[in-house]
Amino acid sequence: MIIVMKAGAAKKDREEVLKRIRELGYKPHVIHGTTRDVIGAVGDERGKRVLQSLESMHGVENVVPILQPYKLASREVKKEPSVVRITDGVSAGGKELVVMAGPCSVEGEEQIVETAVAVRDAGARMLRGGAFKPRTSPYSFQGLEEEGLRLLAKARKVSGLPFVTEVVNPETVELVAEYADMLQIGARNAQNFALLKRVGQLPKPVLLKRGMSMTIQEFLMSAEYIMSEGNQEVILCERGIRTFETATRNTLDLSAIPVLKERTHLPVIADPSHGTGNYHYVAAMAFAAVAAGADGLMIEVHSDPEHASSDGPQSLKPAKFARLMEKLKLFAEAAGRTL
Ligand code: PEP
Ligand code: MN
Repeated sequence: MIIVMKAGAAKKDREEVLKRIRELGYKPHVIHGTTRDVIGAVGDERGKRVLQSLESMHGVENVVPILQPYKLASREVKKEPSVVRITDGVSAGGKELVVMAGPCSVEGEEQIVETAVAVRDAGARMLRGGAFKPRTSPYSFQGLEEEGLRLLAKARKVSGLPFVTEVVNPETVELVAEYADMLQIGARNAQNFALLKRVGQLPKPVLLKRGMSMTIQEFLMSAEYIMSEGNQEVILCERGIRTFETATRNTLDLSAIPVLKERTHLPVIADPSHGTGNYHYVAAMAFAAVAAGADGLMIEVHSDPEHASSDGPQSLKPAKFARLMEKLKLFAEAAGRTL
């Protein structure tokens, strides 16, 4: 249920409502709107009628059911788009597009530091790079792990760019969170509910990628897992789904972008690198994603893709990435965004 507070309701009225929601056995989540606060009360669906009684409390405008199965992520609970703050100067969901770029995997100090500086100079606002890698084969490079996190921190210090990196299991979430500015949940873990709950308990923004066989509704339910634990700072990433098509690594589902933007207040970005699997197609799909309403992009960049430890074929060299960013300005402007 959504408890809509009156515009300008007193803090003490809100506290009383929160207390009553807890007494009734529900978990309250306050969502601050521009004119008023709303409180999402989530819990057992069967007894939700008792929440209707909150309508008579001081400061309450009305109590309405949330029809979608995802509650806190839905547009019903929050009409205006959410802006997720990553660091003081970097956020997602506002007018400015946020571009995150860097290698698939962190391979060494020189590689990550040089790439960070190059993508920053081209206009990226965040660095990406995997330290813990979820590989399809147990024989493939699994990442530099904590050493990779240290190198990412070094690259952040030199470049000034905050970084996002993947968490692959609940046991290492704490460690990754000590270093990273944002935690990435990859496609292969998008329905790892124990992991989703764990990142939901931290005060750290989360980039949630769509699982390769997930429906949009399932994707939003995974976001709900994170949010229901208390962490509202979630950014969604469309990274392609598996279809019958084999000419590309995945099928970047661009239509998911406007659908998501309609159904959720959360920011939505696109990953044309994993979406296509081929560097030739990355720029075209990056432009298309911005035209479709994406709030940002995640793009893989490597200075020597032929020798990359992972995802070389879909990685752009820094100069190509810089040209993409230059051209992206035109598409951003046409979409009413800045870069
Ligand atoms: C990645 O970002 O390198 C990655 C493994 O992505 P995905 O989870 O989308 O495959
Ligand atoms: Mn990759």
